[in-house]
Amino acid sequence: MKKFLLFLFVLIVLDFSGNVVFAAYHVKINELYASMKKYDGKQIRIEGEVIGDIVYHRDGAWINVNDDVYSKRSIAEGNKPKGQNSGIGIWVSKEDAKKVKFKGDYFHKGDIVYVEGIFSSNCPKHNGDIDIHAKKFMVVKQGYEIDHDINLKLAMISMGFFIFAASGYSIRRFRITRPGYRRVKA
Ligand SMILES: [Zn+2]
Repeated sequence: MKKFLLFLFVLIVLDFSGNVVFAAYHVKINELYASMKKYDGKQIRIEGEVIGDIVYHRDGAWINVNDDVYSKRSIAEGNKPKGQNSGIGIWVSKEDAKKVKFKGDYFHKGDIVYVEGIFSSNCPKHNGDIDIHAKKFMVVKQGYEIDHDINLKLAMISMGFFIFAASGYSIRRFRITRPGYRRVKA
């Protein structure tokens, strides 16, 4: 019975701590900007694509994360611009920053990361910046390179076929309509 009670107790504590973790607001970055007072100093969770360069400092690093429509399918992959392109600076440890392999740009889909941390609308450590100080930082989906050349290559191949077919056609046509062609030329 005692063991059973202990088991129950452990379950409750686990559940409790689980709830504490889930007490963080899972928000969209747009929402943070729209309700800065509501989230200021609060623990929040976001998920988005790493965009642009990572800037290293002595005691940490800046990572830009973007969770709008582009991060699901990059503009680089042909997504039409739509809505607000919203990103936010995440202050992470250097160790966490090194987890990022792909940063989103024209040639890359950036890593999708999960961030849990404290949102500041006026960060005292960083000259009043709007930022998130990450407590938990994970790569949930690795990015990849985007091959822009593929469409160009396909276009060139089909163009090549077209020229080949068209020239074959016009040569035959030329010979048929002018039977004396070879003799005259010789
Ligand atoms: Zn800060």
